Amino acid sequence: MFEYAPAPESRAVVDIAPSYGLFIDGEFAPAASSGGVFKTVNPATEEVLSEVSTAGPEDVDRAVAAARRAFGSWSALPGAERAKYLFRIARIIQERSRELAVLESLDNGKPIRESRDVDLPLVAAHFFYYAGWADKLRYAGFGDDPRPLGVAAQVIPWNFPLLMLAWKIAPALATGNTVVLKPAETTPLSALFFADVCRQADLPPGVVNIVTGAGDTGRTLVEHPGVDKVAFTGSTEVGRQIARSVAGTRKRLTLELGGKAANIVFDDAPIDQAVEGIVNGIFFNQGHVCCAGSRLLVQESVAEELLDSLKRRMATLRVGDPLDKNTDIGAINSAEQLERIRTLSDIGAEEGAERWSPPCTLPAQGYWFAPTIFTGVTQAHRIAREEIFGPVLSVLTFRTPAEAIEKANNTPYGLSAGIWSDKGSQVLAVADKLRAGVVWANTFNKFDPTSPFGGYKESGYGREGGRHGLEAYLA
Ligand code: NAD
Repeated sequence: MFEYAPAPESRAVVDIAPSYGLFIDGEFAPAASSGGVFKTVNPATEEVLSEVSTAGPEDVDRAVAAARRAFGSWSALPGAERAKYLFRIARIIQERSRELAVLESLDNGKPIRESRDVDLPLVAAHFFYYAGWADKLRYAGFGDDPRPLGVAAQVIPWNFPLLMLAWKIAPALATGNTVVLKPAETTPLSALFFADVCRQADLPPGVVNIVTGAGDTGRTLVEHPGVDKVAFTGSTEVGRQIARSVAGTRKRLTLELGGKAANIVFDDAPIDQAVEGIVNGIFFNQGHVCCAGSRLLVQESVAEELLDSLKRRMATLRVGDPLDKNTDIGAINSAEQLERIRTLSDIGAEEGAERWSPPCTLPAQGYWFAPTIFTGVTQAHRIAREEIFGPVLSVLTFRTPAEAIEKANNTPYGLSAGIWSDKGSQVLAVADKLRAGVVWANTFNKFDPTSPFGGYKESGYGREGGRHGLEAYLA
């Protein structure tokens, strides 16, 4: 096998300031309260990228008040006028996509190939898509005169920072709501750059406000009496707390939480294609994907052949510098997440599953985890039930379609699933019985703004994306 020469993307295209304030009412300003600042680091090198303000209760008050003030005139604009702003934002994102992709890879650790070819194109596509809806809301199927809810409090995780922001902000603005968004504490930078995009697009002050900070800031925001809608993407545990705090108020709530998706391979599936889909399903974005295909269910008769082929393919994955265009697997987003992946993987081995990783040298500095599979896994193993949120695949086998369905559904989650089979009838029959919000057939991790996304059971409720995604922001 030949070696790839390094192909690093230049980081000179992005200019990160040494510190950032909060973005409230169209202006960047330091946090008023004594919350202080926190550092955001490049997880591939542990280098400090910038210092970011922690928003306290006073700052959240100011942000919610700014969004409330802006709501009157923003919601009164004709849809076609709101659309112009969204189209403008989409085009600016396209123009600045290289800069934003490099920034996202620096702050998150994801390979530039993914931030450049997946995240950024999807971010722009979301704004284009919802811009198209802004003047057609009464044809969306939610009544003749759908009304915005008011001020939306939005809290997002670190795995797709800018894409999760787009999923939340684009439909909220298209429907006439105003927004206070809190990005995750380990990846605040792309949201702060997005604030600059809003200024460039001449978005009226207060329509989008960005407050940074950790869980406390998130809690203050979602519990604020001045917000009308809460949209949260993150862990099931925090989702539960938020559901409790919102219960009994007039706030509307959508929750996009965790997952433990089954990727089911039948004996008639094209093995090479299935292997590509398995690799994409669990190693895309280091496995930091809520809908990752983290449980492989393979029909027993082809298990050996498939696993041999999967291991050969895994041995070709390149782990390393996220800014290198040849990199397949980048850095784990934080030391805490790395610890969680290590702990659950060690438990997998202790509980008797067989662990395998291809030989690969991990960089000395930064947070890294080699792509890993566990075979001989049963439903009783914790690695078959709990979300690892890392590049770790649990392999189970089955004999009949009925057994595959039962195992696939035997999870507290229900976000996504994959089916690999040559027979359309089999794909449809199985898909019909899976309790998962998204089911991919002979593919995995395909996203499109026109397609709704969301879960069953502990994966949350409400849908984002597509026409369905408008409903969460309309009265
Ligand atoms: P997390 O729940 O710890 O944090 C998510 C966000 O919530 C962060 O911004 C955090 O600061 C904030 N937060 C923490 N405590 C809070 C509180 N008490 N009140 C309000 N906000 C609070 O999750 P994470 O570790 O950042 O993200 C990983 C999780 O997100 C995984 O479980 C993953 O499956 C899930 N996720 C789901 C989707 C989806 O669409 N279903 C997408 C991406 C990630």
